[in-house]
Amino acid sequence: MISQERMSRAERADRVMTSLRKVIPAPETELAHGNPFELLVAVVLSAQCTDERVNKVTPALFDRYPTIEAMADAEPEDLFPLIRSISYPNNKAKHLARAARMLRDEFGGRVPETSAELKRLPGVGQKTAEVMISAAFGGAALAVDTHVFRVANRIGLVTERATTVEKVEKELKRTLQEHTWGDAHHLLILHGRYTCTARAPKCDDCVLPPLCKTWGRIAALPPAREGLDARRGAYYCATRQHYFDAPDRVTDRHGTEQISCPRCGSMNVFDARSGATTKRVKDYRIG
Ligand code: SF4
Repeated sequence: MISQERMSRAERADRVMTSLRKVIPAPETELAHGNPFELLVAVVLSAQCTDERVNKVTPALFDRYPTIEAMADAEPEDLFPLIRSISYPNNKAKHLARAARMLRDEFGGRVPETSAELKRLPGVGQKTAEVMISAAFGGAALAVDTHVFRVANRIGLVTERATTVEKVEKELKRTLQEHTWGDAHHLLILHGRYTCTARAPKCDDCVLPPLCKTWGRIAALPPAREGLDARRGAYYCATRQHYFDAPDRVTDRHGTEQISCPRCGSMNVFDARSGATTKRVKDYRIG
């Protein structure tokens, strides 16, 4: 079996997608929609908001404004009450009303299929354009949202230089075969949403540990120490073999803040009460 270190990113990506496809048989958007216009509205609404919440408001919104023409006649104040439970409802109501007008007046009443045209619409940035191209029109696109960013970094599908959404998108597109981009986008989103969650990844329920770089680092963390005496101090430095209460904090080479020994600077520190290592694994979020 090939070791984690020797595996190329392309090979890791290929195996990751194969493993994820087995547990996520239907990798597709969870935003309810019936046509490209509805998907566009739903994706605009989903910025900084959960798909679940968006799906609660769109049925009434689409009932009231079922077409581009209908929404183009609406004012932001008409849309606001229907989307008030979504984050940033004021801005989103303005974006939707203006976007519908542009679609009617400048795009012949249809949703455009190119990134440049889509990004002319209010409220539509790179991520939304990529989602539309891939999910609405089946084109080659790979949108990077907070889940894709975190999961790609944790698994090791991108290099440690991929510190921005743009860099992650570029590296993933270079690594993955073009015909798999849309699939990969949904697989990574759904994996991030339900398993490799931001705060507490469910590594025990995950199918990826043999392929995941973060798991490799977690697994490499020292085991819990037994027999520590919490009455002698909150922390135990295993390098100098002494207890202390007030730790120092240092940033390791992965950019993660770690507890360190105030006397020798070692990060080989354990919680005296639980015996667990205090070392943390880098948590990737969009900065
Ligand atoms: S093993 Fe853990 S960190 Fe790695 S992908 Fe799975 S859930 Fe995420």
